[in-house]
Amino acid sequence: MIRLTPKGYRRVCQGHPWIFRTDLQGQPEAEPGTLLPYAAPDGRVLGIGAWSATSSIALRALPLDPKLSSPAEIDAGYMDLLRAAIDRRAARPETCRLCNADADGLPGLIIDRYGSGISLQTLTYAADIRLNKIVQYLEDRFHPEIIALRNDVKTREMEGLPQEKKLLKGDHSELLSPIGDLMLYFDLMEGQKTGGFIDQTDNRLAAAAFAQGDCLDCFCYDGGFSMQMAHKGLNVTAVDSSAKAIERLKRNAEYNHLTVNTLEANVFDALRQFESEGRKFDTIVLDPPAFVKSRAAVESGRRAYKEINLRAFKLLRAGGRLVTCSCSAHMRRPDFELTVAEAAADAHRFARVIDRKSAAPDHPTLLTAPETDYLKVLMIEVS
Ligand code: SAH
Repeated sequence: MIRLTPKGYRRVCQGHPWIFRTDLQGQPEAEPGTLLPYAAPDGRVLGIGAWSATSSIALRALPLDPKLSSPAEIDAGYMDLLRAAIDRRAARPETCRLCNADADGLPGLIIDRYGSGISLQTLTYAADIRLNKIVQYLEDRFHPEIIALRNDVKTREMEGLPQEKKLLKGDHSELLSPIGDLMLYFDLMEGQKTGGFIDQTDNRLAAAAFAQGDCLDCFCYDGGFSMQMAHKGLNVTAVDSSAKAIERLKRNAEYNHLTVNTLEANVFDALRQFESEGRKFDTIVLDPPAFVKSRAAVESGRRAYKEINLRAFKLLRAGGRLVTCSCSAHMRRPDFELTVAEAAADAHRFARVIDRKSAAPDHPTLLTAPETDYLKVLMIEVS
């Protein structure tokens, strides 16, 4: 039985599911990915964790009864957690996340459904060694046309697992999947993450309901926000520096008979250009990539958020609306809000927060692991 150090025990008592190697007394002789019981310094069994032989996170807790003893019982418990995660999404649309790793009690396991396609990631050994079982379960439950494995993620290497990307089922990787009233293209092999950014699904619909007049969608990628705003009949300009992203957006617009003006440019330059031309907008969406990529990059990332928000505030007409997002896990909500507040103050705008949002409900976060609450969205009306 693995025992925690007193320090590790204190951490576990705070509810965080990750146990570091330095928080353990000795190392167990176990195959990576084994689900092992762990105990307090006094020997009291506390829970079951997924064992990693290489990562600095040695154990990740699963919400399983520590009394389960045989490997078969524990494996069955793992599949029960998967079934429960999927059952919890019964009321979610066909394009949604079916399993969100630690928050669903399944460390490293991400499963996204795009209508008739499924794309998954096994980012820990515990998930990886069960891949065939998991895929069989998804096959039986959904009969998908496409199953893609998107293990092209750097964190796999910390577990001692290779990066890989392959189609497990199907002979093509692109499909149309419903988002709101629209059908949008997703490429499960070539798209970002598992195919697209479906954590913003509900926020895109909410943003379209909030938007009005001339809209500017910054960092538009394949047009997640633009499509919904254009569908509402608004005049949309979408900006992204990637030609491929703009190409995807255009295909989505064409398929749905929507008109969106596109601009392939660096958003920082485009915002400056609009300002010098005296152009104004009624709605601006800012959904940039994570500017804060590590704890060390908080200051530079903060400056980047401040700059785009400041410029956006200046470009809005009176009564205008700003939908501003940050997906940086290393920047917590209060810090993000403070940064946007500083931008509003510098732009001399009166900024009224109408709503605060996070990732869609199929991307739950763990209350006791606040860094899992990475996506922050503010919906602001300016005077
Ligand atoms: N808003 C999108 C997701 C944005 S992902 C959605 O709703 O799905 C971030 C996007 O920002 C990517 O498409 C990337 O190409 C683009 N990007 C990154 N840096 C940029 C920059 N400086 N200027 C313009 N686009 C940028």
